[in-house]
Amino acid sequence: MSDVTGSELRALMARVPSVEKVMASAEFAPLLTEFGRTQVLGALRDALDAWRVSAQSGDASVSALDIAQLQVTVEATLRRRNAARLRSVFNLTGTVLHTNLGRALLPDEAVQAVMKALTQPANLEFDLGTGKRGDRDDLIDELICELTGAEAATVVNNNAAAVLLTLSALASKKEVIVSRGELVEIGGAFRIPDIMNRAGAKLREVGTTNRTHLKDYDEAISPQTALLMKVHTSNYAISGFTKEVAVDAIAPLAHTRGLAVAVDLGSGTLVDLTQWGLPRETTVRETIEAGADLVTFSGDKLLGGPQAGLIVGRRDLIAKIKKHPLKRALRVGKLTLAALEPVLQMYRAPEKLAERLTTLRLLTRPGDDIRLTAERVQPALQRVAGDRYVVVAEPMFSQIGSGALPVDVLPSYGLVVRTADGKRSGRQLLALEKRLREMARPVIGRIADDALRLDLRCLEAADEAQLIEQLKDVQA
Ligand SMILES: *Cc1c(COP(=O)(O)O)cnc(C)c1O
Repeated sequence: MSDVTGSELRALMARVPSVEKVMASAEFAPLLTEFGRTQVLGALRDALDAWRVSAQSGDASVSALDIAQLQVTVEATLRRRNAARLRSVFNLTGTVLHTNLGRALLPDEAVQAVMKALTQPANLEFDLGTGKRGDRDDLIDELICELTGAEAATVVNNNAAAVLLTLSALASKKEVIVSRGELVEIGGAFRIPDIMNRAGAKLREVGTTNRTHLKDYDEAISPQTALLMKVHTSNYAISGFTKEVAVDAIAPLAHTRGLAVAVDLGSGTLVDLTQWGLPRETTVRETIEAGADLVTFSGDKLLGGPQAGLIVGRRDLIAKIKKHPLKRALRVGKLTLAALEPVLQMYRAPEKLAERLTTLRLLTRPGDDIRLTAERVQPALQRVAGDRYVVVAEPMFSQIGSGALPVDVLPSYGLVVRTADGKRSGRQLLALEKRLREMARPVIGRIADDALRLDLRCLEAADEAQLIEQLKDVQA
């Protein structure tokens, strides 16, 4: 049909059923039960309006107005509208702590604790000993102190908040001395100079990009100085002719001048990672022992817990931080505390950590194990990719991610997809990348060196079975 005349159109419009009749039909009853009247009515009106618009341009079919057909249309709309936007994916990027994919995955103990906190009242701010009001930090600060050697601790929403709060509470309207080699930008617009500004503190840069000496800090100290600060250069490395001043050298200088040293460690490792063959990262305890008065770090990077920012250090400074009004604005919710506690408790048994803590288990997963996964997934992926592509299991390198140890890589294994004709065909690879990304549970890999690369380090047994199942379901 095209070019409908006025009378034809009027006749067509007369075929549109009444909304009341459709809503009262047996076909629509299950939709009303599941989605409620308001939503169903809205979706039905949208469907009929859309039909009227296409009728005017001459391409609507009368059969689309059958109640059974309307039910199908409306149900599809409602399912689409109610589908979750936050969805599980397969992280085959090779970056274990992938900021865009939610960073650390929580162990089951933490998940159970969150579930309880969600569904049952808890002593979040209630002292069970006295029956009086309590402080939510009390639930967890002893444990944090035990694991870090700090005198006191507090927890906020993320590490950016921890740094902002620390500077606001201790350095407002005063100067903070930072090396030019440490004025970092972490992804997502966290920049030390900007945070400093927001906190009302004045940044006093010292040294140069590649070299900063103790005397640079010494000469910058003035009556305006509030803090000496060191920032972990999480996501880059400066190599060559370089010098930075370690915490154990800065601390005595600061302390003789009556000042404090704050260290933003970023990742916040609690144990020596070299015992699992991982690259070395300074631990929070070592930083405290080296003389830092305050240390800030993330809960969901190498620590392997929920999103949080931990501040540990001197009792008097933590007390000051806790009294600042921003602490109330940046405090964590009960879900975070519920998840953090069991994760921290795991650190009391370091010899079990690589098995229990998901992040560490993924980082230390044996290469042979990953290779076997790759060999099992390969046929299913090859079938889905089709004969225009060649899928091969190959060694590759994973990254820790989240700015932890950017230059270090972990030997891994995965599937590499190239075009069958060997030609460089970026478009063909992008097409497959898109198909995988649009699956029910999206598969996220990365394209590099004329190949689509799927690193299988993060595909543990249950996920492997689910991925193979999903690939098998694809029609050839
Ligand atoms: C990651 C990081 C931050 C930000 O931490 P979030 O938990 O993402 O807010 C701040 N400083 C350093 C050095 C970091 O590595």
